[in-house]
Amino acid sequence: MNLSKLDLWMQKQEHVTSLSRIEIEQIQFCKLNHLLAREKARGGFYKDLPEKLSSLRELSILPFTTESQLKNYGNQMLLLSQSKVDRIRTEETSGTTGKAKRLYYSAADNERTISFFAAGLSELVYPGEKTMICMPFSGPGGLGELIAEAICRLGAKPIPAGIQKSYGELLFLLDSEQPETFVGMPVPLLSLLRLSPTCSLKRALISADACPETVTDAVEAFLSSRLYPHYGSREMGLGGAVTCPAFSGMHLRENDIIAEIVDKSLKPVKDGEWGELVITTIQADAMPLIRYRTKDHARLLKKRCPCGSMIARLDTVTRLGEASKITKLDNEVFQIPQIIDYRATQTEEGLLIEGYKKGDCFALPDRLLGYPVIWKLCQVSKNHYPCYPAKRYLVKETK
Ligand SMILES: [Zn+2]
Repeated sequence: MNLSKLDLWMQKQEHVTSLSRIEIEQIQFCKLNHLLAREKARGGFYKDLPEKLSSLRELSILPFTTESQLKNYGNQMLLLSQSKVDRIRTEETSGTTGKAKRLYYSAADNERTISFFAAGLSELVYPGEKTMICMPFSGPGGLGELIAEAICRLGAKPIPAGIQKSYGELLFLLDSEQPETFVGMPVPLLSLLRLSPTCSLKRALISADACPETVTDAVEAFLSSRLYPHYGSREMGLGGAVTCPAFSGMHLRENDIIAEIVDKSLKPVKDGEWGELVITTIQADAMPLIRYRTKDHARLLKKRCPCGSMIARLDTVTRLGEASKITKLDNEVFQIPQIIDYRATQTEEGLLIEGYKKGDCFALPDRLLGYPVIWKLCQVSKNHYPCYPAKRYLVKETK
């Protein structure tokens, strides 16, 4: 089996010819101390932390950064002058209260992400092929734009589909462009494959949302190939960890990000145990974060991967708490092969499932996750849109 392309990318970025655990941790330790010195010199949000640590282990005694701190003190976390900021990503908020989360990136941050994307995508995107990108396009430095640039660098052609097209428009693109590969969220991919089982797609990288087992199995059966999951977030510069041909977890961009896993009492877990993922973005140029709690549930595999790489892997990442409900629901609902997509609302009486089906004659369960269910499904048409434009969630009934 070939060594993960990410391993080769990391060797090139760090000007080394091998990456043992000791070498990887040495890179992390140097960058962490460099970051702490930058914070002190710039008087940044983390200026009161020690200027230097004597070992990587000491990171675990530094305080955590929470989402609410990021919302309230984001400006202080910016280490560059505003003129050097290439792109700001502001989280859409549904309510009118509270501050929005804003993340800042420099041109160097975006270039690093493109280069990481190209390395990860090179496992499945080949020169001369076409890749359909169902991710948000939002102008220079946008996620879709960064992926498209990475695909161009691999000698392939990006097909920018975005996330606002109807099924009819998406099927037209599939049919007219005949892309071999797909980059996007898992459920919209399953919807497309259920609508057009014999389409041209052969391989896919999925990201931006949790991928329930049922969805993975169904998509892999359609494609006759394994899925390449990717994990990233705005906080880690969009690109974070990507699967290698061993399909045994996602190799983390460890030269740029230090990952820790902590238990419910926020103590580090033993190697290989599950808990909350905490990240420190040691390479971030514009807005580094130290011990940021992601609220994602994962575990870290540090033993050698079957591909030969010693870069740590993240096992399946799921969301914690209330947000995990929709994944459990997806696992149940998408077992029904006629379901194209749905939106779930938690009501006083139970669950309301509204969505699209293709064909008929299937039995629908009366209860899901222990709640009684009201089903409102209509036949899918070309004018329908995916039920969630971004991450899936359980809608709360408002009165
Ligand atoms: Zn591997």
